Amino acid sequence: MGKLTDYNEIRALLARHSFHFSKALGQNFLCAAWVPEEIADAAELDRETGVLEIGPGIGCLTAELSARAGRVVAIEADRRLLPVLAETLEGRENVEIVCGDALRQDLAALAAEKLAGLRPVVCANLPYSVTSPLLTAMLEARCFETMTVMIQKEVAQRICAGPGSAAYGAFSVFVQWHAVPRICFDVPPGCFIPQPKVTSSVLQLQRRKAPPVPVQDEGMLFRVVRAAFGQRRKTLSNALCGGGFAKPDVTAALEAAGIDPGVRGERLGLPEFARLADAFTVLTWDGGAPVK
Ligand code: SAM
Repeated sequence: MGKLTDYNEIRALLARHSFHFSKALGQNFLCAAWVPEEIADAAELDRETGVLEIGPGIGCLTAELSARAGRVVAIEADRRLLPVLAETLEGRENVEIVCGDALRQDLAALAAEKLAGLRPVVCANLPYSVTSPLLTAMLEARCFETMTVMIQKEVAQRICAGPGSAAYGAFSVFVQWHAVPRICFDVPPGCFIPQPKVTSSVLQLQRRKAPPVPVQDEGMLFRVVRAAFGQRRKTLSNALCGGGFAKPDVTAALEAAGIDPGVRGERLGLPEFARLADAFTVLTWDGGAPVK
């Protein structure tokens, strides 16, 4: 097998396997050798690292990961790619392909079972249509030290955006609560076959070992965040009322947290959201279950 990123080799390989690209599965395969190499370099792997890859495609990134890490487990949803991967990854003893939808897997259980004893990380060129649910699942698994992923540039910018910017939203807060994000580099559409319409970015998430600020109830925090961004043109007070909080509770919580009710939710950073969530938690606490 020649280079897995050579345009003509990819065409020939896929033709031999009668493979046709699926738009629904976000199949844009890399055809520029520097990209999988730099993604794998950015992930800072060594033989003590266990990598979870989502969507190996024909295996060009998988091969780079296999050359650097202790073990690679790659989840591929498209069964038609299994014989292709068997050919392209032949002889790579530290790679295992799991066939299935990554969104239906328990990623923490998978990492515990298949990457036991290694430092678990994620490294992947993600299918763009399911970027947010996949990142959510990785972060909620709470076991991956770093997640180095290629996604749409615009989504990467939204994830990294701070208070007051148009790109800042509930998903920025969610990701930044769990991890410290940074954009490593951009990848132009010409590096893919077929070419996507948009530029991509490689984003790295460094999982936080502890929350950035203490909060009593994370569920309440994200309820407040969703409500605050639910109607982002409204004042925070009105957005919270529109998001299911009772007006008297909203007034009292904003006052207790020392936040101006006339401000827009998009102005609040993580410490303000945590303070506000704690104020709601105290207000709505029912005193706990009666002791019998
Ligand atoms: N890693 C390859 C590369 O860089 O050339 C392919 C990346 S391509 C953008 C996304 C891959 O994810 C495809 O192989 C696609 O079949 C797979 N995929 C799409 N949805 C998936 C899902 N829910 N679970 C697992 N794999 C998925």
